[in-house]
Amino acid sequence: PVLRGKLSGGLNHSKGELSFFVSSSNAFFLNPQYGIVLDAGSSRTTVYVYEWPAEKENNTGVVSQTFKCNVKGPGISSYESSPGALAKPLDDCLNKVKERIPVHLHKNTSVYLGATAGMRLLRLQNESAANEVLASIQNYFRAQPFEFRGAQIITGPEEGVYGWITANYLMGNFLEVCGKNYCSFSGGNVTWVHPYRKETMGALDLGGASTQISFIPEDPEEHFNSTLQVKLYGYNYNVYTHSYQCYGRDEAEKRLLALLLQKSNTSANVDNPCYPQNYNTALTMKYFFGSLCTQSLRPANYHPNQLVNFHGTGKPGLCQEMVSLLFNFTACRGREDCPFNGMHRPKAKGNFVAFSGFYYTMNALNLSGHFSLDDFNSSMWFFCSQSWAQVSGLVEIYARSYCFSANFIYYLLVHGYNFNAETWPQIHFQKEVGNSSIAWSLGYMLSLTNMIPAEGKLIQLPLKP
Ligand code: AMP
Repeated sequence: PVLRGKLSGGLNHSKGELSFFVSSSNAFFLNPQYGIVLDAGSSRTTVYVYEWPAEKENNTGVVSQTFKCNVKGPGISSYESSPGALAKPLDDCLNKVKERIPVHLHKNTSVYLGATAGMRLLRLQNESAANEVLASIQNYFRAQPFEFRGAQIITGPEEGVYGWITANYLMGNFLEVCGKNYCSFSGGNVTWVHPYRKETMGALDLGGASTQISFIPEDPEEHFNSTLQVKLYGYNYNVYTHSYQCYGRDEAEKRLLALLLQKSNTSANVDNPCYPQNYNTALTMKYFFGSLCTQSLRPANYHPNQLVNFHGTGKPGLCQEMVSLLFNFTACRGREDCPFNGMHRPKAKGNFVAFSGFYYTMNALNLSGHFSLDDFNSSMWFFCSQSWAQVSGLVEIYARSYCFSANFIYYLLVHGYNFNAETWPQIHFQKEVGNSSIAWSLGYMLSLTNMIPAEGKLIQLPLKP
C-alpha cells in the first residue's frame, strides 16, 4: 500500500539520517499501462504481459505480471531453416495477449523481444541464419497492433544483471514502503524509503543454453572486468555477473550424451546412468552433436541422421561421475579463462534466489524454498534410483532428465560456485514473487523504459530527537 500524507515525519534510524523518495504524483491507479516482453530462450519463447499504474511507474514493486504464455514449439533458434514458420505459434499467444489488454491501449503498448544463449550460439555458428530469424520476427510484428521496439540478442552479462534486477525489484530490495517502526508521517505524500536494513539477493538462473550468476561481491574493485555498475534510485550497485555458455541445462545434457557415446563400445546402443531405469529413447546424432557446444566432440563418422539408442540404467553414483566430467576441472587448472577453474571468484556472498531451471528441478524432487544440502542429496539419490514406470507421470522430455539436472546443479553450485553444507541454505529456490515470474524479462523492460530511474528525488530528514 502507498502511504499518503505530507512529508514531515520522524524516524528512528541508528545512522542518524534517512533518505526519502517522494512520489511525483498522488493520482490513483486509474491509468493502467502495459508492456510486453518476449523471452526468446533456447528451448522456448515465453510471452509476458506487465501492467502498472502510469502515474507511479517509477516506484518499485508497482509493475506486475498479469499474463504469461508459453509459445508452442521450440525456441526461435530452431527456426534457422524455416524462419517463416515462427508466425503461427506466436499468433496463438499474441491473440491471447490482445484479449488481456484493452483495445484502445494496443498501439501504446511496447513489445520487446530479447533472445538469449540459443541465438547467441546460432549467431556464432551461422550469422546470416540468426539475422533471418530476427528479421522474420520483425516482419511478424509489423502486422501487429502493438508498438514493436525491436528484437535483440542480449549478451550473457545483460541476461545476468536483468535477472538480478527482476529478483530484487520484485522482492522490494531497492525501495521499500515505509514501515511504522522506522518512519512515520503526518499528512503529505510520502511513498518510498530506501531499505537500509535490506541487502540485495544474488541471482542464479539456469536456462537451456547458458547459466548466469549475479551478486554484489565483497570486494567489487577486484573483479572490475566482470562487475557492472548499476545506478538505481540514486544508489550505486556493483554487480558481479557471469554467464557460462554451454552450461545451460539442455546444452550440458547434450554434452553428457556426446560423452556417453564417446565412452561406449558401440554407437548403436548406449547406457545412460542418468536416465531412469528402463527408459529407452532413440536420438539422432544431430540432436546432441548439432550444437556448437558439442561440435568438438563429434566422431569421425558423424552422420546427422543416424539414430543412437539410449538406455536408462538409473545409477546415481555413475551419473554423478559422468556429470563431473562436464566441468573438466583438471583441464582448467591454472587457466584464468576457464569457466570453472576449480575456484569460482569472487566468492559467492549473501543470500541467493535460484530460479528457472534450478527451480523446476528442485520442484520435481519435491523440494522448494530453503533446504539442507543433505536433504537435496538424499532426494536426488532417491529420484535417480527410480524406474521409468515410477517417474513417467511427468512430462517425458523433462522427466527423463531431472536426475541429470539435479546432478548438474549439484556440481555447478558446489564445485563450480563453491557453495557448501553451511552456505547451501542461503540459496532460495523460487520461481516467482506473487504472480510475477523471476526471469530477466521484467528487468529488461524496466531498464529499457527507464522505469527504474538512476536518480531519485531525494530528501534527507533529520533524526527525530
Ligand atoms: P526456460 O524457462 O525457458 O529458461 O527454461 C530453462 C530450462 O528449464 C530449460 O532447460 C528447459 O528445458 C527447462 N524447463 C522449462 N520448463 C520446464 C519444466 N516445466 N520442467 C522442467 N524443466 C523445464
